[in-house]
Amino acid sequence: MNNKLDINLIRNDFPILKEVINGKQLVYLDNAATTQKPQLVLDALTGYYEHYNANIHRGIHQLAEKATAAFEESRLRLQKFINAPSAEEVILTYGTTDGINLVAQTYGRSFIKEGDEIIISTMEHHSNIVPWQMLCEEKGCVLRVIPINDQGELLMDEFEKLLSERTKFVSVVHVSNALGTINPVKEIISKAHAVGAKVLLDGAQASSHLHLDVQDLDCDFYTLSLHKIYGPTGMGILYGKRALLDAMPPYRGGGEMIKEVTFAKTTYNELPYKFEAGTPNIADVVAAKYALDYVDLLGKENIASHENDLLEYATAALKEIDGLRIIGEAKEKVSVVSFVMNGIHHQDIGVILDQHGIAVRTGHHCTQPLMNRFNITGTTRASFAVYNTIEEVDLLIKGLHKVKKMLG
Ligand code: PLP
Repeated sequence: MNNKLDINLIRNDFPILKEVINGKQLVYLDNAATTQKPQLVLDALTGYYEHYNANIHRGIHQLAEKATAAFEESRLRLQKFINAPSAEEVILTYGTTDGINLVAQTYGRSFIKEGDEIIISTMEHHSNIVPWQMLCEEKGCVLRVIPINDQGELLMDEFEKLLSERTKFVSVVHVSNALGTINPVKEIISKAHAVGAKVLLDGAQASSHLHLDVQDLDCDFYTLSLHKIYGPTGMGILYGKRALLDAMPPYRGGGEMIKEVTFAKTTYNELPYKFEAGTPNIADVVAAKYALDYVDLLGKENIASHENDLLEYATAALKEIDGLRIIGEAKEKVSVVSFVMNGIHHQDIGVILDQHGIAVRTGHHCTQPLMNRFNITGTTRASFAVYNTIEEVDLLIKGLHKVKKMLG
């Protein structure tokens, strides 16, 4: 077990973990959907509204200056978090979904044409499928899909077969939300680049578990959501290489993204503002910095090591349950474990666990094509974060035995 972190002390940083659900202490195992927020993030949110709530960039009064400084400081913090070469290449978005749509609607509509091919994978979240399907419908381009094996790993030789001079874009998930698989993204990027294709990585799940370095990865675009990393909902980033962002048209039109507007013609602002129309989620952006500071304080390696201990322990204990099958047993995994139980519907499992205060996710996890691949309609998914404990895993296992007794 990891002894560098005092998990009980960490738990005190998260007020929500003291909640009582159905008369039981909350056991929160739905971290892949969203993580809970530490007190310093909550304080940053209320601190902004209590002390310097003002619109950014345009005001000259003190509150506006303070809000603008905090907002831009957060951008710099996010730049450091992914090791982007410059802050101008870090676009503040509403989250991963927003980032992917931005790329599909700007880069895609400008540079991908009829007959061109876009490659995604079987394990994509709907947010990395539908924007590309919408583009294909509009432009007449073709979507290709990398298949996976029964363990939930990409078939890399099949990926290579899909690559050709027609491939213009590859958009894949860094870490699967439904299976926990860590994909070999560096290899995907270098192979895609070899045929001249651009690559976007969906980092929604990777960001809380893995060290991120977009320069080392050499990806063209990287997108993530802060609510998966102990930060607020409704904000995220899109990283893009400067030359690509410069060449792309704006996404949404409005205030902030312009240089000059006349009724005859509008000229657009520089990066990153060209892609940031309207008043953003200022409080959430400001608070994001504190979430990343918190992760740094604990140390990403320490967090990952604790989560891996939980994953190993949970995987072994789940395998002891008769009639339970784990979906997703990749060699490289983060702390997400999905499973099905013989003859018991995942929704019933979720309802019974909830009666015992245990929050898990059930259903298709916004990955319906992946569920089809496994011939199932959904799974029960437990996903662990830094504040989870072995005792909580034991409660999950105990809860599942109760489920079996009642419905098995
Ligand atoms: N991609 C993956 C792999 C995810 O897990 C999620 C959220 O669960 C998303 C994309 C969408 O993220 P958001 O809803 O924050 O835009």
